[in-house]
Amino acid sequence: MKTNHFDIVVIGSGPGGLAAAITAKKNGARSVLIIERDVELGGILLQCIHNGFGVEIFKEDLPGPTYAQRFINQIGELGIETMLDTMVLNLTAERCLTLTSKTHGYRQISAKAVVLAMGCRERTRAQVRLPGTRPAGVYTAGTAQRWVNVEGYMPGKKIVILGSGDIGMIMARRLTFEGAKVERVLEIMPYLSGLTRNYVQCLQDFDIPLKLQHTVKRIFGNDRIEAVETVAVDDTWQPIPGSEETIACDTLLLSVGLIPENELSLQAGVRLHPTTAGPVVDADFHTSVPGIFAAGNVVHVYDLVDWVTEAGYAAGKAAALYAADKLRPKEKMITTQPGENVRYIVPQHFDTSQLTSEKIPFQMRVSRPIEKPVWVEARIADERLTRRGLPYARPGEMITLDLKPEHFEKFNKNNSITIRIIER
Ligand SMILES: Cc1cc2nc3c(=O)[nH]c(=O)nc-3n(C[C@H](O)[C@H](O)[C@H](O)COP(=O)(O)OP(=O)(O)OC[C@H]3O[C@@H](n4cnc5c(N)ncnc54)[C@H](O)[C@@H]3O)c2cc1C
Repeated sequence: MKTNHFDIVVIGSGPGGLAAAITAKKNGARSVLIIERDVELGGILLQCIHNGFGVEIFKEDLPGPTYAQRFINQIGELGIETMLDTMVLNLTAERCLTLTSKTHGYRQISAKAVVLAMGCRERTRAQVRLPGTRPAGVYTAGTAQRWVNVEGYMPGKKIVILGSGDIGMIMARRLTFEGAKVERVLEIMPYLSGLTRNYVQCLQDFDIPLKLQHTVKRIFGNDRIEAVETVAVDDTWQPIPGSEETIACDTLLLSVGLIPENELSLQAGVRLHPTTAGPVVDADFHTSVPGIFAAGNVVHVYDLVDWVTEAGYAAGKAAALYAADKLRPKEKMITTQPGENVRYIVPQHFDTSQLTSEKIPFQMRVSRPIEKPVWVEARIADERLTRRGLPYARPGEMITLDLKPEHFEKFNKNNSITIRIIER
């Protein structure tokens, strides 16, 4: 690496970071650098050897590494620089980065624009406060996935999984393929927290029982976990006395949620949203700090990789324009307000000038499942702007609604829109 100054620096090489780097380069950025703490490009996709990736973008059902490779090939072809095995330790609002690695040592670089693409991390036992002893054999589902799919180790043979997140359900099937017995998947909520397709393909197809409104009350075992005590819970998550059951196991996997990885964002003074735990962004994925953009799971936890790639494209293009001082000046910022049954919306605000020339996709999560046909509806004051019908709305599945240029003039008098999800 000859220089310490780049047009664009992308932190993280998952699908969000790869897409951002590619579009930044295609949109005129002269020097683009991806920094990745792992020894290979690709992010979490490298350990996701199951299929299910690329259905929207490529209309193909690809394994994670194959999906990643399609983008990694372009990184070389476009002359994008990479620093692997390198950790970004610090980021300032002025876009100065401090890095460390065995190859490059301790180093400082700067950029005209930065794209945050650090993904997210899994919640652990400490964050869900599981009582009992502290033996070996309690792991996050993603850790087990890395062992089995990348490093060639089995976490155990008799498994209980806490949480019905996608990683847990995918690991239930994976461990069954490898000869383990998955005794049960427990979910504290009265509904699934991952995708329905994963429930069908990973649990139902393999007769793995899912118990909704159940959790782990206690862990038994000293050196190694020997059993868990499970319990049914009511609607306020209180244990129902008498419903306890002891299940012998040598492994407890946790699939209890993901946390966007935003320590660097906070150092740079980027404003985070209390619900998503990711940066507040506009429709260019521009954060509250000028010149710092964000894409992928660092912003909010996506269900499908295709949408992460789309977000990376948008952030990378805007970052390249910013670096060239060509990003359109802001005219009027409109706030997006979550209405009835909407937990959050990304982007949290957008500029009307963007709507004059392109559609703006809004992504959101429903607060509670609605197992009936619904309208996803955008409103300005009392007027309906647009709506789309869906057969149902489930918390584990992201919902998208587009605003189009034809909606532009409605914003003459209004500064916010509300999106709600209601029964049809
Ligand atoms: C187990 C599992 C199964 C999935 N299954 C599917 C599926 O079937 N279909 C589908 O469409 N989607 C699936 N997804 C979702 C999809 O894979 C993710 O949404 C997507 O990979 C997120 O991409 P990302 O770029 O935001 O983050 P990641 O892929 O997590 O990449 C973030 C990268 O940033 C790096 N990084 C973080 N901090 C630093 C730092 N300080 N310095 C340097 N590097 C850093 C990390 O090492 C990592 O490589 C699955 C996800 C998981 C976890």
